[in-house]
Amino acid sequence: MALISILGGGESGVGAALLAKSKGFAVFLSDAGSLKENHQQTLRENQIEFETGEHSLDRILNSDEIIISPGIPEKTDIVKAIKAKGISLISEIEFASRYTKAKIIAITGSNGKTTTTLLTYHFLKSAGLKVGLAGNIGQSFAKQVMEDQHEIYVLEISSFQLDRCFQFQPDVAVLLNITPDHLDRYEYKFENYIASKFRIFQNAGAKTSCVLWADDEVIKAHSAKIPSNARLKTVSFHQKADAFISAEKIQFDGAELVLADAPLNGPHNAINMSVAILAAHEAGLTFPQILQSLPLFENAPHRLESCGLWKGVEFINDSKATNVDAVFYALNSYKQPLILLMGGVDKGNEYEVLDALVKEKVKGLICLGMDNSKLESHFSAIVPKLFATNQLEAAIQKSMEWASEGDVVLLSPACASFDLFKNYEDRGDQFKNTVKRLIHG
Ligand code: ADP
Repeated sequence: MALISILGGGESGVGAALLAKSKGFAVFLSDAGSLKENHQQTLRENQIEFETGEHSLDRILNSDEIIISPGIPEKTDIVKAIKAKGISLISEIEFASRYTKAKIIAITGSNGKTTTTLLTYHFLKSAGLKVGLAGNIGQSFAKQVMEDQHEIYVLEISSFQLDRCFQFQPDVAVLLNITPDHLDRYEYKFENYIASKFRIFQNAGAKTSCVLWADDEVIKAHSAKIPSNARLKTVSFHQKADAFISAEKIQFDGAELVLADAPLNGPHNAINMSVAILAAHEAGLTFPQILQSLPLFENAPHRLESCGLWKGVEFINDSKATNVDAVFYALNSYKQPLILLMGGVDKGNEYEVLDALVKEKVKGLICLGMDNSKLESHFSAIVPKLFATNQLEAAIQKSMEWASEGDVVLLSPACASFDLFKNYEDRGDQFKNTVKRLIHG
């Protein structure tokens, strides 16, 4: 019996183990850390062997194929050993896609993946299709494939998953944008990260729809990487495109969306909506069907989420903005004067791209992090007022002191959250709760 080993026992690893077992493989799951109790229980119930706290190299190197969690970097010893032995090393996405005939829409990009994935899912679901939501979101793709209940999947795909995809061939492949991120996993070479993102198109053929934002400079520069026979569907602010975005509306072939009526604001969301609408259309829905369900869409929390109104001042939680590009778009989404809260763990940020927008819109900058020195030295000459703290409550109190009617207080950190918070969700939740408490006394 062929042996499949699985490295990493999170949602995707356990799902892959279950699918592999159901397909008749011998399965061994190995996690160098610990496993959640419910995952351990699932594995036991299904008689799947597992280990925690280490990787037993000999056993793993006897595998016919290995499925790796996207969280395990290429530079670890275990990955080096597997590569040296030449064993096939794949992602859960690659593995699960072998066992489904359902249509697949796969969505990647540096920013906007979750919003666009949820929106595409919403369109398909509202149209009455049996649709699965997976990838970085929700339940494991492999587990859903095992249950085989869906006619179409919408997958949010990270670059780490793409690195270990080889034959994976989505019917609709989406690339939103590419800006520097996760460079620590790509030998600090932007080119490597770009190549990883373009793997979404690597098996595109005449029947594949490739949907992308055509104004993105990096995508433009590398568009020759897209197979020339694929069906290209483009979104643009400047040129003739399948979705043409102007100040007031988005025009499609025979349909239009008035932006003032849309549930999501800002230019980045105009791109996300365009891309999701084109993807759903390529999957077989009509424009009227799609546009009818759009007003009912609610985005996931922590993305430009309005979370309080106090004396005419609106508070916005954009805790998911963990890189500079996301903040750039957040600043562009408001015409009102802003009090901006930034800070946390800097991932090698270059803040210059924000300078003009900050000068134009930000009346006060509040730096919230353990180490605010880089932000302070970069922005102190640019903003009228700056305050630095490592206390969330002090940060919000200062914003209330500075704000006047009509202003927006925007938490859009540009940084990871791990210095003061568990994760970006915890940062966003604490922000929302503290705002509520301070507003209601
Ligand atoms: P991802 O899943 O790629 O991280 P999200 O939809 O969770 O994307 O959004 C992450 C952050 O990026 C949020 O702060 C959001 O406002 C911002 N954002 C969303 N869409 C875009 C886009 N198309 N371009 C730039 N920033 C975006």
